[in-house]
Amino acid sequence: MAWLPQVSRFPPLRTNLVHGLRFRLAVSYVVFFAVLLGAIGLLARQNLKNEADSDMRATAEADWGAVKLYLNIKNERPYWIVDETDPEEAYLVERLRHVYLFTDADGEVLEDSPTYASIGVDSPGEIRRILSLPQTEGLPQGETHIRRDKDGTPYMIHAGSMVDEHKNKYFLAIGRSLEVPYRAVDGFTRTYLLLTPVMLVLSSMLGWWLAGRALGPVNEVAQAAHTITGSNLRMKIQTRGADDELDHLIDSFNRMTERLDQSFEQIRRFSTDVSHELRTPLTAIRGQLEVAMFTAETPDQYREAMINALEDVEKLSSIVRALLLLSQAESGQLALQKAPLNLGDLAAEVVDQFQIPAEEKGVLLSAALEPGAVAQGDRTQIERLLSNLLSNAIKYTPRGGSVDVRVGAGSGPGWVRLVVADSGVGISAENLPHIFDRFYRVRNAQTNLVQGLGLGLSFVAWIAEVHGGHVDVESKVGEGSRFTVELPTGGDKPATAPAERAAASLHQA
Ligand code: ADP
Repeated sequence: MAWLPQVSRFPPLRTNLVHGLRFRLAVSYVVFFAVLLGAIGLLARQNLKNEADSDMRATAEADWGAVKLYLNIKNERPYWIVDETDPEEAYLVERLRHVYLFTDADGEVLEDSPTYASIGVDSPGEIRRILSLPQTEGLPQGETHIRRDKDGTPYMIHAGSMVDEHKNKYFLAIGRSLEVPYRAVDGFTRTYLLLTPVMLVLSSMLGWWLAGRALGPVNEVAQAAHTITGSNLRMKIQTRGADDELDHLIDSFNRMTERLDQSFEQIRRFSTDVSHELRTPLTAIRGQLEVAMFTAETPDQYREAMINALEDVEKLSSIVRALLLLSQAESGQLALQKAPLNLGDLAAEVVDQFQIPAEEKGVLLSAALEPGAVAQGDRTQIERLLSNLLSNAIKYTPRGGSVDVRVGAGSGPGWVRLVVADSGVGISAENLPHIFDRFYRVRNAQTNLVQGLGLGLSFVAWIAEVHGGHVDVESKVGEGSRFTVELPTGGDKPATAPAERAAASLHQA
């Protein structure tokens, strides 16, 4: 039997690094951090660039205003008014003229700076478009845009119109290099890109550490669970008092081992009981045979020894049969063949079988069987249920007592009831809750009755349950006992309870 606790040798607790939860947590953390870093970097870079652009736009527009102070148009040509004695003014004008283009309305270049030439003179069409742009209130006429020279250096250019005293329109464009402000943006990008791997390395180390910290208790639990075997199931894993998910897991785990421990304990008790049960008749048989071998002389003496030994062999067989049935029931192997079963007819048959033993014992056995009590059941098992109840009733009722069997309608529609009542010794309140437990026998020195295996009633409970029914008992010491079994008729409600479930209940009983 595989019921004995197995003490197995576990391999040391080791998890695959790459498939481990810690690794995956750390990687998720790093990936998330990398995406976050990238998004922040892009956003910051764009912000810096927009800032630089709008600064330069404002500067270009301010320059545009300043140009109008120093630039005149005379004889259809640009003419700069500079006070050469003022070096500051000379410098200012020089700077204004650094990126500068002046053309007539047809795009004929009248003056330009070499820098503007390298950007490329605007086409006549473009010039005409800009000249025709309307004047917006509070803003200089024209438009501000970014253009690049041959080397790719960006410039913020403001282009618009100028009018001479004859109302002739001219095209004027001045600009500022964006190289310096963009260099700051590039500098930021470079530094950010350089720092990102460092930050990622640091974050992966942090992620690894954090994941390790978070999973530390899980590993401790796993380690503790690892050391639990069939022989130390009472060992508990300490909760950490955090009342978190892990504590709940530990709690569930501890409760599981507790249940397992109870099952193991039951199995241990079962083994002890079984060996004890088997040993008694075996010892008796051995004793009888030895006595016969050494002392018997006549065939009658031999015969008597053999009869006694056979009785004990019969006892052994019944124990083995009960154990086999128990094992089949527990493993859910006992296939039930359910069919509509007339309980009255069945009870009548069983009562008939028990008439002789009852008479021999001086117990009056009577039956009141209502016709039409039909349950959906396995004939063999229901017969066993009835036999167990009846044999107990007769066994535990002294001479002169009575046993009454009743079959009739149940407590509600869809139920039938079977009652076995006796006027026997009764069961004390302290024993009553346990009589359906396996191997439970009431120890009673006074009655001096031949004790059974303590399995009969546990089978009764199992059979009732496996049929979707239940069994109840009422009893008073000295007055008698009444066992009531209710079974579903199997009409409108399902009467089939899976054998496995009932097997589990039998195991726990
Ligand atoms: P056993 O095979 O030993 O009779 P059971 O499981 O059938 O085991 O019964 C368990 C215990 O319940 C018995 O030891 C007996 O003391 C008590 N018991 C069962 N039926 C009766 C009854 N009708 N009257 C008094 N005691 C009973």
